[in-house]
Amino acid sequence: MNFIETLKLKNKLFFIFIIITLGLIIVGVMGAINLNSMKKNLDSLYFGSLMPVVELNKIAQTYHLGVANTFYKAKNAQITPYEVKSQIKTAIETIEREWKNYESRFKRDYELEYVEYAAAEIKDANYYFYRIYEAVEQGSDIKKLLMGNIEKKVAHVHKVINKLITYEIEVAKQERKNFLALYDAILVKVGSILVMVILGVMLISFYVFKSIQSDQSALEVATKKLKVANKKLENASYTDSLTGLHNRRYFNLVYDREIKRAKRNNSNITFMMLDIDYFKQYNDTYGHIEGDFALKSVAKVFKDLLKRPSDFVFRLGGEEFGILLTEVDEQNSAIIAKNICDALKAREIKHEGSKINEFLTLSIGVACCVADEALGDEILISKADEMLYKAKENGRDGYAMTTDISVATPHIAEKASA
Ligand code: GH3
Ligand code: MG
Ligand code: MG
Repeated sequence: MNFIETLKLKNKLFFIFIIITLGLIIVGVMGAINLNSMKKNLDSLYFGSLMPVVELNKIAQTYHLGVANTFYKAKNAQITPYEVKSQIKTAIETIEREWKNYESRFKRDYELEYVEYAAAEIKDANYYFYRIYEAVEQGSDIKKLLMGNIEKKVAHVHKVINKLITYEIEVAKQERKNFLALYDAILVKVGSILVMVILGVMLISFYVFKSIQSDQSALEVATKKLKVANKKLENASYTDSLTGLHNRRYFNLVYDREIKRAKRNNSNITFMMLDIDYFKQYNDTYGHIEGDFALKSVAKVFKDLLKRPSDFVFRLGGEEFGILLTEVDEQNSAIIAKNICDALKAREIKHEGSKINEFLTLSIGVACCVADEALGDEILISKADEMLYKAKENGRDGYAMTTDISVATPHIAEKASA
């Protein structure tokens, strides 16, 4: 059944369909053939056994009622000579017709001799009665009819015909026995074919379904792996590889989403733009690789400070970072900005090239507001950018903040730390 394993799911189902159809066709054809042979047997039972008996009975009856009875009535003057003639004529014609029918049916070789004998006897009897008929026609005295001879003749023919009837009944019994045996045999044959076909279909279906099931399980495992891989890929595509922070791609996604949410809820939203102070000099002093380590340390400071699910930290590029805070008001935003500056200094990352501190520092521009319908898409970013510039101007290592998020020149709430 390796062949089934190699088929695709669609082809497996098609295969099962073909097998079932073939099975049904086989059962149908076998059933039709057997029914046809049963029909033939029924036919031969009816026309080969029943009809001959009917014909022979009719002949015997006609001799009795149509011939003997007619002569009897004629002798007793119960009917006219004319009636005698017509009744005898009709009776003999009936007998000849029925005999012809009987003779025309299939006869076995060993039956022929007796059938020929019976035919001769009937012919002889008919001739005898025909002569009487002619005598009556020529005006003979009916009263002189010898009833004894007529009855003897009828009785003899009767005996001959009765023997045929007995024989035909015997044949019919035998035929019926054969037919019943054949019927049983056909039943067994059709039954066994049916059972074989059903078993075959069940066996093949079992293999096909087993194979489908294993395909299904493999598919499920593959889908699970794919989902995990997709998730990893998605995370990777939104993560900055150096710092492990969210990247700019993810920033674009989250920023739009959170601005919309804040606008809907009229809630606080804060965006911070962060830039390391004199980082060029840092690279120049310690080299690029050390610079990268410093970037990682800065990222670690952010991660340690901002742990709530509603805080988002991004590396926007180079040594620039973005922080998006939701549900945080002006005062707390300012505290967080100050804490970030302090926490980085507390790390004590040596920066000999810095003009303002012996350790690495950064500057932060903060834009904070309660979002409403009027809040433009990019305004928080440009305000935070302005504030960053301001913080740098104010001597770095601190933050500058605004809560006036109008398009007009911002009123700057300067809260730069020392
Ligand atoms: P300022 O205080 O005015 O910001 O001075 P700055 O020297 O930091 O000026 P700026 O922000 O323009 O400097 C950017 C420097 O950051 C330039 C580059 O050498 C450095 N830098 C940018 N990206 C990376 C990075 O991925 N790794 C390292 N090691 N350095 C980077
Ligand atoms: Mg910069
Ligand atoms: Mg810088």
